[in-house]
Amino acid sequence: MRIDKFLHAMRIGTRTQVRKLIKDGHVTANGEPVLSGKQQVNPGTDVVYLDEQPVRYQQYFYYVLNKPVGVITATTDASAKTVMDLFNSTDFRDDLFPVGRLDKDTEGVLVITNDGALSHALLSPAHHVTKVYEAEVTGEVTPEQLTSFQDGLVLKDGTQLQPAEASVVAYHEIENFTTVRIKIHEGKYHQVKRMVGSLGERVVSLRRVSFGSLQLPVGLLAGNYRALTADETAALK
Ligand code: URA
Repeated sequence: MRIDKFLHAMRIGTRTQVRKLIKDGHVTANGEPVLSGKQQVNPGTDVVYLDEQPVRYQQYFYYVLNKPVGVITATTDASAKTVMDLFNSTDFRDDLFPVGRLDKDTEGVLVITNDGALSHALLSPAHHVTKVYEAEVTGEVTPEQLTSFQDGLVLKDGTQLQPAEASVVAYHEIENFTTVRIKIHEGKYHQVKRMVGSLGERVVSLRRVSFGSLQLPVGLLAGNYRALTADETAALK
């Protein structure tokens, strides 16, 4: 692999930035100065340094994004802004993709990775990864109404849902809407909106607050992302 490609893939900088670092003599491979970005390295065995700092090979990258409303969960799109457009040029890699999908008007926790096996496992129906949503719902929803979710709802189109747990967080009397917390263990198309629809109400806004073991990080504003820690990644697996 070319060393400029390797340094860029390890998030040292953009292609242009890493070529400048090489040209300015900041990079060594196996103790020898690297003179050209075209130089080949074996990421698994060669020892690459950026000044005093070793550049370790990393195959997989894991991020948590607080998806904002208004961007679509896709890697590319001809016209709409995608979740990948929120990545800066150093962190962006064209093999990164979102794990699962949130609607354009939903915000909250979205895992972004290039680890296909982990994504597959997290999305597999057999794994029953738990997702928790906070929904603002039209009207006054009572705890009694939410018990219909417990036994596994059958949606209008006949879709059988697995049991889900839900509770009322608050009823906002003046504006006449209810904040509801809904925990589901599958991920059917528009699932939360359709569950709320079965009560004769409508979701006004929707936020995913956790995905499996991963909680929406405190202070991570909508539109921002950060790398998962090693512990957070391990807990997801
Ligand atoms: N359920 C929905 O209806 N929409 C989402 O984006 C996620 C869950």
